[in-house]
Amino acid sequence: MKRHSGQDPKITAGWRPATLAVRGGTARSEYGETSEALFLTSGYSYDRAEDAAARFAGEQQGMTYSRLQNPTVEMLEKRIALLEGAQACRATATGMSAMTAALLCQLSAGDHVVAGKALFGSCRWLTDTLLPKFGIATTTVDARDLAAWEAAIRPNTKLFFFETPANPTMDVVDLAAVCGLAKAHGIVSVVDNAFATPALQRPMDFGADVVAYSATKMMDGQGRVLAGAICGSEDFILNTLLPFHRNTGPTLSAFNAWVVLKGLETLDLRIRRQSENAIKVANFLESRVARVVYPGLPSHPQHMLAMQQMVMAGPIFSLYVGGGRAEAHGLLNGLQLIDISNNIGDSRSLMTHPASTTHYGMAEEARLEVGITEDMLRINVGLEDPEDLIADLDQALGAIGR
Ligand SMILES: *Cc1c(COP(=O)(O)O)cnc(C)c1O
Repeated sequence: MKRHSGQDPKITAGWRPATLAVRGGTARSEYGETSEALFLTSGYSYDRAEDAAARFAGEQQGMTYSRLQNPTVEMLEKRIALLEGAQACRATATGMSAMTAALLCQLSAGDHVVAGKALFGSCRWLTDTLLPKFGIATTTVDARDLAAWEAAIRPNTKLFFFETPANPTMDVVDLAAVCGLAKAHGIVSVVDNAFATPALQRPMDFGADVVAYSATKMMDGQGRVLAGAICGSEDFILNTLLPFHRNTGPTLSAFNAWVVLKGLETLDLRIRRQSENAIKVANFLESRVARVVYPGLPSHPQHMLAMQQMVMAGPIFSLYVGGGRAEAHGLLNGLQLIDISNNIGDSRSLMTHPASTTHYGMAEEARLEVGITEDMLRINVGLEDPEDLIADLDQALGAIGR
């Protein structure tokens, strides 16, 4: 019993998130290793030909090929599902392969999708460019506006897709309201929860059907590997996602799954400390720049909603330095501690200029519509001492006369 104590639902059912993040899904081998084993194997062997036949027929439990199953990847999938409160999870090679698979596995030509306007740049490419190529119409709406979601519904609307908080505008979407509207119309809601992770927000508790992740961000959290995950009901994962996933192959490598398992062990600690640091840095910046947009601050128009559906506001926020690109790039170039980097969810503090990097591919008009202006910067607040981060920002702001 003890050997598999991270897997038995009778035992894990009572565990709280911090415990699940360290123990959930653990399947020990015959050696009783404490840290999860890394199974770098592409295939599996069988004692008898009849066993191989039985496994392919689905009559015998066991692995057949690592595009389909791998013990290390399965441990990660079970751990994420437990943290999410989902029946099942499937890991993917990147966050974008998770988003693509979560959408394409359940859409067909003739369907219609409604998506939030403020999305990760590549997610907007899926809705604006990829889906229409295959005869799937899409409408983008201001995801904060429930009436806009309702007005966009057509008889063939199959799916709602959004993220909250959204990248990089930090718009907060009312999960219960939007997922409730979807449910009332028989529409599936897919939420990209990369910014919050299940440690801060569990969209399924508010009615979401499918939750998709870039595990590259807070789940790894130390800037090492790319990974993604899709959570949903057992029926959705087994009967809708798996046929697509197994046959198209966006499979997560066992090594990367192992790294993310290690990352999850400290997820709760990291995200809480980084959220605390972010509040301190945001408070400092509010006194020095034109505007700070952080759901954790009372100045955010949706602060109350954010605090209703999130445990804390997370490590990421946006700021408007005032002026234009020259001032924004000037601030970045003056930084001595914080790195210029477009990644997020890292234990290091990183800052980027979305208009010229992550959202460069978006039409200028669409960028401005969601508030991605030339003087906007996005910061990921890391685990450094917040006083050192504030001192760095202070000197860099001084250098551009702020
Ligand atoms: C990073 C990110 C993605 C894409 O994830 P990758 O792991 O880089 O493929 C998707 N959505 C959001 C909100 C992200 O931040």
